[in-house]
Amino acid sequence: MGHKKTERIDPLTRALPSGGVDSHAHLDGPEFGPDREDVLARARAAGLSGVGNVFLGPEDFNTRRAVFDRHPEVFFLLGIHPCDGQRCTPESLEAMRMAFATEPRLRAVGEIGLDFHWQDCPRELQFKAFAEQLDLARELDVPLVIHCRDAEDDCLMTLEARGFAGYPLLWHCFGGGPALARRILNNGWHISVPGPVTYPANAALREAVALIPADRLLLETDSPYLAPVPWRGRRNEPALTVFTAQTVAEARGVSPEDLWLACGKNARRFFGLEAAC
Ligand SMILES: [Zn+2]
Repeated sequence: MGHKKTERIDPLTRALPSGGVDSHAHLDGPEFGPDREDVLARARAAGLSGVGNVFLGPEDFNTRRAVFDRHPEVFFLLGIHPCDGQRCTPESLEAMRMAFATEPRLRAVGEIGLDFHWQDCPRELQFKAFAEQLDLARELDVPLVIHCRDAEDDCLMTLEARGFAGYPLLWHCFGGGPALARRILNNGWHISVPGPVTYPANAALREAVALIPADRLLLETDSPYLAPVPWRGRRNEPALTVFTAQTVAEARGVSPEDLWLACGKNARRFFGLEAAC
């Protein structure tokens, strides 16, 4: 009683010019089994010319990447998530090495990092998996995409101590305030902003988003999670990036079109996609 019903606006009525990129989505799983083709068609119609699909380990990569065979606009990231730290074995690292050697659509190691929110994996194992995959990214000379939840100091100290200041690194799913943004930016890294920037309570996040240099900002969905308003609570999908772009543009005092194209260009540069999308 008394609750206003959310109007679920069709993202295609808010489509932006072709050239946007969703830097981080998980479209290979069962959440998108029945309608993945429709989801990718909507992504394109909404103005996305690229989508980064994140595989959470070499098994998923090897068994699922074929679902994108007819979608060259989808580029790939591969990493063992901190919640799966126990899966980071010599064998899986070798499988990742092999994957990067044979699949040019793989553009970054990630998402890797630390997650102290969930209790799925002991911290010592998370630190070990993080360090080993940092070494792998450096060995392969590819960009890094970081997942960090409730572990900001440990994550930053690990990266700084291991000499990753200035390395091509994207802080995925940024949810912090101005102080965290400044520390990330001072290391020369990029920041990717997800749907929760649209949630009314996240004023500090919008404040942080306003101070990111225009050439270091990317957009993402983290589909199927974290749908932006007005789809909050539903399955997220790349086309909904247009709502995130709208809020980020407002926070920065620029037009959604300019913001969209600038973030897309940053993603293409960061992931080395210039020819692809
Ligand atoms: Zn993710």
